Amino acid sequence: MSSLSFWGAAGTVTGSRYLIETSRARVLIDCGLFQGRRELRDRNWQEPPFGAAGVNAVIITHAHIDHTGYLPRFVRHGFRGPVYCSRGTSDLLKILLPDAARLQEEEADYRNRHKITRHLPALPLYTEQDARETLKLIQVVPNNGQPVNVAKGVTAEFRIAGHILGSSQVLVRCEDQQSHSVLFSGDLGKYDQPIIHDPVAPPACDSLVIESTYGDRLHDIEEPKDALERIIKSAAEHNSAVLIPAFAVGRAQEILYLIRELENEKRIPTLPVCLDSPMAAAATQAYARRTEEQDQDYADALKTNPTPLRTHSMLACSSRQESKRLNDLQGARVIVAASGMMSGGRILHHALRLLPDENAVVVFVGYQAAGTLGRRVADGEKQVKVLGQWVPVRCRIEKIGGFSAHADWKEVLRWLQDMPSPPRRVFVTHGEPEAAQAMGAHIRERFGWEIKVPQYGERFELV
Ligand SMILES: [Zn+2]
Repeated sequence: MSSLSFWGAAGTVTGSRYLIETSRARVLIDCGLFQGRRELRDRNWQEPPFGAAGVNAVIITHAHIDHTGYLPRFVRHGFRGPVYCSRGTSDLLKILLPDAARLQEEEADYRNRHKITRHLPALPLYTEQDARETLKLIQVVPNNGQPVNVAKGVTAEFRIAGHILGSSQVLVRCEDQQSHSVLFSGDLGKYDQPIIHDPVAPPACDSLVIESTYGDRLHDIEEPKDALERIIKSAAEHNSAVLIPAFAVGRAQEILYLIRELENEKRIPTLPVCLDSPMAAAATQAYARRTEEQDQDYADALKTNPTPLRTHSMLACSSRQESKRLNDLQGARVIVAASGMMSGGRILHHALRLLPDENAVVVFVGYQAAGTLGRRVADGEKQVKVLGQWVPVRCRIEKIGGFSAHADWKEVLRWLQDMPSPPRRVFVTHGEPEAAQAMGAHIRERFGWEIKVPQYGERFELV
């Protein structure tokens, strides 16, 4: 009897890890890092509860760290099988995993030097070497719906999910005593967002695992582009620094694309735009390269501009020294840095300087998980801890909701309505508890399907 267990993204949006077991194979779908609250992050340090050496293959829906950032640790624990993903995801993983490892190492080093650690010495979760070993296991598969054998009696079909470059919805079919198919939505993209193709219609399946990040919310009415125009114009008038924490992959490219459009359309003055994330800079190149996933708008932009992802006055920092030099810049400027939830990376050094600055603006353009620094600042806390120091928050806070790379609940329903036949069972995951419950209720109300919101570690037989 095949089974499906939920070892992450249950009651939270991070740590996506789903395990399919049949009598002949064990396949893990996504291998994400837990982020946010300490009890979640502690799971990154525990032995994987399902063992690593006994897993035959890993399937990756998309490159974001909350879906892939545990892979090098998993390899350290003894996993040696293939890691299946789309070409776009593979491009991004080559950038993201070594970078995640470097950040882990830099942070451990920083904590040791400043003696802000509960463990002496603080250790990285994994090293760049571990990340390199992981990359050797990658097997690129097409994301056009073609079935691929991933383990004994298990096939997978990848289709565009429209969330970030390479993101896929994956249909896993297990041939055991009986055949059963499970569709993993992965993170599902918004319709009509710039650069990337819309999500393609879902195939029929026996069980569905659907994300619910925005299960209880609808995107803002204000167009992200209009919001950016308003904020950048005001920054230019007031000589303000604009700090945008952005996921290095996806969001950063979208921001650059829209700022460039606004500049072209003369809706904003040209300000220096600093992309302070080597990862974002590399991801930007991958985005420009993978033309098969780009939408019509992007193809049109390419006709007149060979680099639609560069603003008119753009500076990309690759070294830490270059990043520090940004501190000397004065006047109106835009800094785009990772991580998107201010949970690590170069954004923290900018946050130390700009959060207390009354004239600065911090612009949230993405989801902020509970427990992250980004969430605290976005929620209006007046004092926050950054890199072990308490700093007052005096800057202006802006939130642009419409930027999400996630479908909101209405868009999830729009995607589901194209499903050729109803799934027998629906598992709602990848949401805070209220969002997951709300998403479940919307689906039940609209389609009358049976819904489950699984708990961490819960296991279901696939019948
Ligand atoms: Zn994602």
